[in-house]
Amino acid sequence: MLTITVVGGGVAGLTLAATLDPTTYDVTLVERQPGRRTVPTVFGIWPFALDALERIKLAEPVRDGGYALTSAVITADSARRPVTMSRQGATMWAIARPALLAVLDGAVPDTVARVQSHVTDATALDGDLVVAADGARSVVRRQAWGDEPRDTGIVAIRGVALTPPSMPLDQMREFWGDGMLFGTGPNRLPHGMGTNWYASARRGEEAPADALAWAREAYAGWPALVRETLAAADPEQMVVNTILESRRPRSLVRGRFILVGDAAHAMSPNLGRGACEAMVDAIALGEALNEDGPDGVRRYARSRLRPGQRTRAAAAAARRLALSPRAGRVVLRLAGGSSRA
Ligand SMILES: Cc1cc2nc3c(=O)[nH]c(=O)nc-3n(C[C@H](O)[C@H](O)[C@H](O)COP(=O)(O)OP(=O)(O)OC[C@H]3O[C@@H](n4cnc5c(N)ncnc54)[C@H](O)[C@@H]3O)c2cc1C
Repeated sequence: MLTITVVGGGVAGLTLAATLDPTTYDVTLVERQPGRRTVPTVFGIWPFALDALERIKLAEPVRDGGYALTSAVITADSARRPVTMSRQGATMWAIARPALLAVLDGAVPDTVARVQSHVTDATALDGDLVVAADGARSVVRRQAWGDEPRDTGIVAIRGVALTPPSMPLDQMREFWGDGMLFGTGPNRLPHGMGTNWYASARRGEEAPADALAWAREAYAGWPALVRETLAAADPEQMVVNTILESRRPRSLVRGRFILVGDAAHAMSPNLGRGACEAMVDAIALGEALNEDGPDGVRRYARSRLRPGQRTRAAAAAARRLALSPRAGRVVLRLAGGSSRA
């Protein structure tokens, strides 16, 4: 039986392990921190990812574990005139990260061997195929492709509050201005609706308490929703991440090594698509291997290189726009020049 080692039991690794046919492949999933408790920040899940999840019968459990967001409102300050763009009828779903991981984990067959290990030498791993699902700082990619992601110089500060936001519960809001960004929306937590929030900063990665102190000061002149959310924030319910962007690989395959998810295309979070692309990669790879045997690797590489890299580039453009002084003018243009608040 062909052996496959999957490095990383995050979104991509679990999705792949859930897709691969256990009667054809002997799969080992290597994760350095299985069951790690994480702050339940939210993932936006776009329809294209739900379509892929539908094929492995996981779209419904993901919808059941999350909630629908039907409108998005962006407010950008243009020449001191606030400009608002509102999109109604959007079909994005949102789900807390631990809830998504639980759905994916529950779909992994018992035949998959689970190994707790921090991989430091990818070349020493067993496996006819070795899949790099080890995220933006992928050790496998560094060793097999010989490159590193770029640091954008931006950190994302994210947090969760136990009380619901003072806004409609099917809406998400973003505020752009002065080279900064703040977003907030609902968050379905085990006890009921809470709040999800995020902010960008041109700073280094630091302790949540320091990041919060900075954010309260930096966003002091912003709308009440922003100030109140930060005032209620708890550093114990926060994470601070450096935003990294992968370089464009020539191929997703090198010898027996294969890239999926952030290892292939770590991206800025501004489009909310990294986990979506990671699941689509993993399902495409799993299906290609199930249908074509080991040759399926080529089909996967052909079909997924461009989409992932296009999204990575688009997310970088969205980041630059949201944090640029032109943001207000562009939002005004996208809003048809009429929607002001
Ligand atoms: C602020 C922010 C907001 C985001 N919002 C969204 C959103 O709304 N929607 C969306 O689709 N995406 C979003 N993303 C992107 C999303 O988080 C990632 O794209 C997604 O988690 C990538 O999944 P992955 O499985 O490739 O990597 P990861 O989720 O990083 O998983 C990698 C796994 O590999 C393990 N691992 C790493 N190294 C090793 C090693 N050497 N040995 C063993 N195990 C290892 C890790 O412990 C981890 O479990 C956001 C990201 C950020 C930073």
